[in-house]
Amino acid sequence: MVNLLQFDRAGLGDFCEQLGEKRFRATQLFRWIHQRGERDPAAMTDLARSLREKLATHAVIEPLPVASEQVAADGTIKWLFDIGGGDAVETVFIPETGRGTLCISSQAGCAVNCRFCATGHQGFSRNLTTAEIVAQLWHAEFELRRRLALAPGERAITNVVMMGMGEPLQNYAALVPALRTMLDDHGYGLSRRRVTVSTSGVVPMIDRLREDCPVALAVSLHAPDDALRDELVPLNRKYPIAELLASCRDYLERAPRDFITLEYCMLDGVNDSPEQAAALLALVRGDGSAASPGLSCKINLIPFNPFPESGLHRSPAASVAAFAAVLLDGGIVTTVRKTRGDDIAAACGQLAGEVQDRTRIGERTDREVRVRVERRVAAPVSRGPVPVARERSVS
Ligand code: SF4
Repeated sequence: MVNLLQFDRAGLGDFCEQLGEKRFRATQLFRWIHQRGERDPAAMTDLARSLREKLATHAVIEPLPVASEQVAADGTIKWLFDIGGGDAVETVFIPETGRGTLCISSQAGCAVNCRFCATGHQGFSRNLTTAEIVAQLWHAEFELRRRLALAPGERAITNVVMMGMGEPLQNYAALVPALRTMLDDHGYGLSRRRVTVSTSGVVPMIDRLREDCPVALAVSLHAPDDALRDELVPLNRKYPIAELLASCRDYLERAPRDFITLEYCMLDGVNDSPEQAAALLALVRGDGSAASPGLSCKINLIPFNPFPESGLHRSPAASVAAFAAVLLDGGIVTTVRKTRGDDIAAACGQLAGEVQDRTRIGERTDREVRVRVERRVAAPVSRGPVPVARERSVS
């Protein structure tokens, strides 16, 4: 049986042809799955009977089992999905006035191993399939629509960020059909501005994304120079800052916005000094020369969410404010991310809270590492309505 969540619309067309059906049937089927949340082919009344019968025999629309759900005081929801084999991934819904943002995972664990990231400390288990990526959105969208009793056509999720567990550009083959499903007017109909891929800087894949599916791009920078970034984001040793920023400049030629978002996690005494703010400003402003062209960007300062194994601490608010002031005075749009859902470990960099570390960081060898679900169901589980806004005219 094939899980139809695996296909973007072109892939679904191929599948319909394999079943001996007309390709255009895929559009009707796609709408039933992604606009109406229907799983039962028998209920898809405008499909040809022959197709409904074949679907019942050859296909399923299989969501991910929910291992646990937690609702934070601020309305943030974190779902833990069981993906089998002892692995689990987390998805976070963040309600705000005028928008509902879903943070989606792309891998079980992550191989990049950024020093400040709880997911990185878990090690890498496996890539998610397209179906497993899309199933996170499918579940959130239709579960929230049901709870909020939204009218047909109203959507709960207005924005998607690929910022959950994993490095999305290291799971490129599964990512791109998932993005296309999100953007498809017969699917979730999200604009390219409202879908963001966040990367630690996999330069060749940024270049490919620019050609294949140029959605909004966020880059985890976290340091103004290679020496420090080599320590915080080990991938920098392969793709250093100059190469990364050059790739970002090229990306802007096709990006839906005229800037790249640079994420900068504020670590006390590590990367948060005024001198480092000045170095970051010089890096992104450039001097107009070929050697230092700068980058059109917005900088997002992220309060670090500490976890015991990191040995790192959150920058004091005064340091964050002083750092932001240097950038703002230099003419760079700079924001400080609001911390959401930290009472349920759903804040940025905290995802992995319910998987057990099997990696023994520090003594790890090249052997396979596994991430195991602690199979206790988190409590308490709230099933009441959450305060998501219904307006959609936001960016
Ligand atoms: S910050 Fe992203 S790329 Fe780095 S370890 Fe965490 S999940 Fe992986």
